[in-house]
Amino acid sequence: MIPYGRQSLDQADIDAVVAVLQSDWLTQGPAIERFEQAMAERCQANHAVAVCNATAALHIACLAAGLGPGDWLWTTPNTFLASANCGRYCGAQVDFVDIDPLTWNLDARALEAKLEAAERRGSLPKVLVAVAFSGQSCDMEYIARLSKRYGFTVIEDASHAVGASYAGRPVGCGEFAAMTVFSFHPVKIITSAEGGMVLTNRPELAQRLQRLRSHGMTRDVGQMTEPSHGPWYYQQIELGFNYRMTDLQAALGLSQLNKLDGFVARRRELAARYDRLLACLPLTLPGAQADAESAWHLYVVRLRLKDIALDHRQVFEGLRAAGIGVNLHYIPVHLQPYYRAQGFADGDFPQAERYYAEAISLPMFPSLRDEQQDYVVEQLRRLLEE
Ligand SMILES: *Cc1c(COP(=O)(O)O)cnc(C)c1O
Repeated sequence: MIPYGRQSLDQADIDAVVAVLQSDWLTQGPAIERFEQAMAERCQANHAVAVCNATAALHIACLAAGLGPGDWLWTTPNTFLASANCGRYCGAQVDFVDIDPLTWNLDARALEAKLEAAERRGSLPKVLVAVAFSGQSCDMEYIARLSKRYGFTVIEDASHAVGASYAGRPVGCGEFAAMTVFSFHPVKIITSAEGGMVLTNRPELAQRLQRLRSHGMTRDVGQMTEPSHGPWYYQQIELGFNYRMTDLQAALGLSQLNKLDGFVARRRELAARYDRLLACLPLTLPGAQADAESAWHLYVVRLRLKDIALDHRQVFEGLRAAGIGVNLHYIPVHLQPYYRAQGFADGDFPQAERYYAEAISLPMFPSLRDEQQDYVVEQLRRLLEE
């Protein structure tokens, strides 16, 4: 089976993890800070806070943005559950903005219209989670302008977009989002097994994020609200969590970061190759967002169903039967039973639903060989021409 995505590990990665096992620190040691610093430098951000996964990163980013009961978080329905669930963790209500039919990202114009309506009702969102779907940022410049006008905080969920850039700068630089979240899950661009990170330029947010990832406590006298008892003293300022990353994970992440450019270059090469090889088939191929350079976490095609004999499921199953581990990103979040129970229904976000009826994620990972990609294209052509 050719999977849709997989990690690329080498001996340097293994050695980096073994070195931590032989050291004095297994968790929250020097590798964490090195990984954080390297990511901050790479992304041209002032601060980076490593946590155990991107879901935890989204949770504490929302808390740091002040999200709580009575507030609204908006995001795209075409994302992984975590982009919406983070709002629910904070007791906020979640709503969605439909996707752009070209880029399959949250539609900035639809956002503007929805904000105008929400302002009239007095129910503007406090947080917008702008997901860089498949590794390509949304229209972040437009969204940043709207955030100033309507006063919401932008969190970019860049779980797919480590190594991507937007407007000539690395995703994570903080020019268009208050906080950026990355995932280091094995199918993503670089991996730390499990792992996530929040990047920000604002020191007060970084301080809050550091506290929230570790029980809401601090050893920094400057943050304490009561006098220190002595050198052993720590103080819990607020309710936090144990969301720490281990040094084992950080060492792996740091070692992977050395190879990021090569990974992204190969992904871009594969995407360009898919674009070329699939151009004549009855498919809609990924559309580019102006100013965005994708990291190509996913390569998704949409079937032009009226031009082919098989249905969506038959093409999907045909590819699986041919040993190609295709996948579907994503089932619109608002159609999940949990969100239906909050009042969402079929037809609420028609672009995301239409997309879902046609989309298939093809294999995309750096070690995918040209011959394997040719086989994927050949099998897809066979099914579409059947
Ligand atoms: C993978 C992913 C997450 C969650 O990442 P974890 O590190 O597995 O918690 C969040 N948002 C998006 C868009 C993702 O793809």
